Parts: sequence; C-alpha cells; structure tokens
Amino acid sequence: MSKTERSILVEGLRNKGIKDENVLRAIAKVKREEFIPLMFRHQAYEDIALPIGYGQTISQPYTVAKMTEELQVKKGDKVLEIGTGSGYQAAILFEMGAKVYSIERRYEIYRNTQKLFDKLGIRVNTKCGDGTLGWAEHAPYDGIIVTAGSPDIPEALKNQLAIKGRLVIPVGGRITQTLKVVTKISEDEFEIKNIPEFAFVPLIGRDGWDGQ
Ligand code: SAM
Repeated sequence: MSKTERSILVEGLRNKGIKDENVLRAIAKVKREEFIPLMFRHQAYEDIALPIGYGQTISQPYTVAKMTEELQVKKGDKVLEIGTGSGYQAAILFEMGAKVYSIERRYEIYRNTQKLFDKLGIRVNTKCGDGTLGWAEHAPYDGIIVTAGSPDIPEALKNQLAIKGRLVIPVGGRITQTLKVVTKISEDEFEIKNIPEFAFVPLIGRDGWDGQ
C-alpha cells in the first residue's frame, strides 16, 4: 500500500465534493489498511465500506470525509465518537488535532481497536459501553459524531454538546438514513441540516435500536 494510492483516493474524494483541506490531508496521511482485516487489505483504498468482523464495518472513506467535514473540527476541539469500530474515524480526528473520546459497545471490537491504537501510538480515550448515553464525565463536546444509524437523536448527546457544537448523526430506518447535522444554538435551541442518503449498521442501545 502506498502514498500514491492514498493520493488517488483523496483526488476521488475531492471530485465527489469534499473541500476541507484539513480532512483531505488527514486522509492522505492515515494508512487505512492498518484498520482493515488482512483478507480485505487489497481493497483498502477503494471508496467502499469493508467488513471488520462481528457483523460490523469500517465506513466508506467518502462517508468518513463527509461526516468529518460537517463536524468542522478544529485543532484542540474535544470530540466524542460513538461507534469506535475499526478505529479509522477516530484516527482521522486524532490526526486533525482533536482530543478524541470514543465509545464502542462490543467488547471484542473495543479491545482489538484499543490494542491497535496502542501499537500505532494513536492517543484516543476509549470505553466500552452504550454510546447512546454519551460520556457525561468529559462533556461538553465541541463535536459529537455517531457512526451507526439511529432511529432518533439521543437526548443525552444533545445535552452533552457545547453551545455552537455540532452533532453529526445518521437518523432513519435500519437500512438507510439521513445524515443530520445538529448545531446547538442555545441550551434548548438546535438548528438541523439534513443530508440524504447514507447506509449505516444500526446503533444499538437504550436510545437506539433493540438488538444483541
Ligand atoms: N467509526 C468506525 C470506523 O471508523 O471503523 C465505524 C463503525 S461501524 C460502522 C459502527 C460501530 O458502532 C460498530 O462497531 C458497532 O458495534 C458500534 N455500535 C453500535 N451501537 C453502539 C452503541 N450504542 N454505542 C457504541 N457503539 C455502538
């Protein structure tokens, strides 16, 4: 895998409308293959989601880029991610200089990704648990990114957002969702922008879908 393949991916993302140079720079730098099981590594720089085991996926690079762009991350921002998965999205946020907190509900995924972060020197604060409840201890967050599809916007996440902070979350059915970009204007006022159409694995938890 090479730098050239990453630059081709970045050019593709630019052609698909991604403009934020900080996001594109992070995608050009982070080695996506490190976050992908060996048998799929040859596809690491195709713009597609890939399986990471346990019925879960690493999101498509375009989706990662679009969500990160909508989050408008600045260096030093405190960002909460729900759904650590492979760790790739968290690695992009870390590369952009964010202070990242990430929650994963499946213990096996949490443990494997924590080991990978340690190996790669990626300093992300992780925990295993139900991300629909947020992580109140470190709130408020400048940004919250949910990388699984939810039936609704969990109240805890709105509460844990800083004023002017942004929550990026796919909301809709179990198969397809609309990406909602929620900006907190005041304690009880939110502005919402809708971007169709995305397909995420379900967010499972108290304020998400029922499931195993
Ligand atoms: N951000 C990930 C990446 O970069 O690879 C993609 C994550 S994958 C599409 C969604 C992840 O969300 C899965 O690992 C799944 O186990 C996790 N998940 C689902 N419901 C969750 C919840 N309530 N809290 C935390 N994680 C959850």
